[in-house]
Amino acid sequence: MSKKFKIGDTLSFIKQERNLANKRQADARSHDFNEIYFNSDEQNLVKQADRCLDCGNPFCEWKCPLHNFIPNWLDMVAHGQFEQAASLMHATNPLPEICGRVCPQDRLCEQACTLNTGFGAVTIGAIEKNIADTALANHWRPDLSSVKPLGKKVAIVGAGPAGLGCAELLVRNGVIPVVYDKYPEIGGLLTFGIPGFKLEKSILIKRRQFLQDIGVEFQLNTKIGEDISFEKLQQDFDAVFLALGTYQAVDGDLSGKELPQVIQSLDYLIGNVNQQQSYQMPHSYHDLKGQDVLVLGGGDTAMDCVRSAIRQQAKSVRCVYRKDENAMPGSKTEVQNAKEEGVQFIFNLQPLEITTDGVAFERTDFDELKHKDKKVFLSADTIVLAFGFRANPQSWMKKAGVETTDSGLVRIENQSIFNTQDSQKTSVSGVYAGGDMVSGADLVVTAIAQGREAAKQILATFGLVDD
Ligand code: SF4
Repeated sequence: MSKKFKIGDTLSFIKQERNLANKRQADARSHDFNEIYFNSDEQNLVKQADRCLDCGNPFCEWKCPLHNFIPNWLDMVAHGQFEQAASLMHATNPLPEICGRVCPQDRLCEQACTLNTGFGAVTIGAIEKNIADTALANHWRPDLSSVKPLGKKVAIVGAGPAGLGCAELLVRNGVIPVVYDKYPEIGGLLTFGIPGFKLEKSILIKRRQFLQDIGVEFQLNTKIGEDISFEKLQQDFDAVFLALGTYQAVDGDLSGKELPQVIQSLDYLIGNVNQQQSYQMPHSYHDLKGQDVLVLGGGDTAMDCVRSAIRQQAKSVRCVYRKDENAMPGSKTEVQNAKEEGVQFIFNLQPLEITTDGVAFERTDFDELKHKDKKVFLSADTIVLAFGFRANPQSWMKKAGVETTDSGLVRIENQSIFNTQDSQKTSVSGVYAGGDMVSGADLVVTAIAQGREAAKQILATFGLVDD
């Protein structure tokens, strides 16, 4: 096949440098919540995709939790076959525009790229985002005309990545998924937790329209246990998939955590989205303009908080993490973006106590020769706690007999740290679960993978084996 746009050759990975999409300058982007990356033009997309070596044993594919057919769709992009590439992306990933934006590629596909050995990995995430955005903008839809309706309906509780991953695979196989969510829009934390500068809210609206067009039904603003009982779902549907996520903040049991100047990260982030999108949800808005802000934590949620505070024109924003920079669990790209925007980082400080004036810490790298004191005090007007989330199982789950672990995660069959092919079945027949409420707070892409796995297992009970 001739490469319509291809200008390179077998050495194009050398001749053409890795080139991420341009991003807005820090001083321009740090005053608003709009996305910071531009999409590439077609020529750059083609050139970047053409850098793929087509290794034969694509480690990128193995490292991607969805096992996306990365070299195959990169080749299509290199040939200018964008619609085919989009179709192939959607064969394994219902939310490629999201993963392209929020996956920590530097720990996943791009880290495993053969070129990530000094030549610069192929820009897999940026290409995935660009092509998926193009598909949504052009209303490209899969041809599902040959799909035979199975006459089955599945209730999905939670419209986050696991729920959407399950729903999309079910509908492609002739099952009607009905997705319930307490919030007014789909996405879960994609919409209400991740700030707009990483993921603009219009993207989720476009994705909802796509999913509705292919047959997914949504019942938003609907709480299970209040607006509809769980028993009713069990009666009315052939199976139920639970994908409620984890929304309970970990507070580290810090002394002073109840003081009025202390905010939980998720309350802060959801309050921002609620205010910006004019949703009428019962979440307070915290305006940090002119304040000295300390964010405790070092993951992606902490980065979302520090960068949000910068955009609210806080006087100073410091991120304090208990280990060193290399041990930070989130995306390095996000840390870099935060630094560019003016966030200061302080490492190796373990918080001990919050007072009305700030936070007392202890050095975790204390060295008598280097440091005067083991204790450090940082003053602040507002302290945001970003220590992560834990499970918050609902009372109706317990009533229905859905078993949970001591930490509140849903117990699934054959759960084992060695077995990546766990069943998504819960202790209740016909009820499945996946995503963070099973694994604990984890990546968007792993939640999608579990949602798809649950769909496969549900389809198998209907006599269908998805390949
Ligand atoms: Fe990489 Fe995530 Fe896309 Fe997989 S889904 S190819 S890990 S960006």
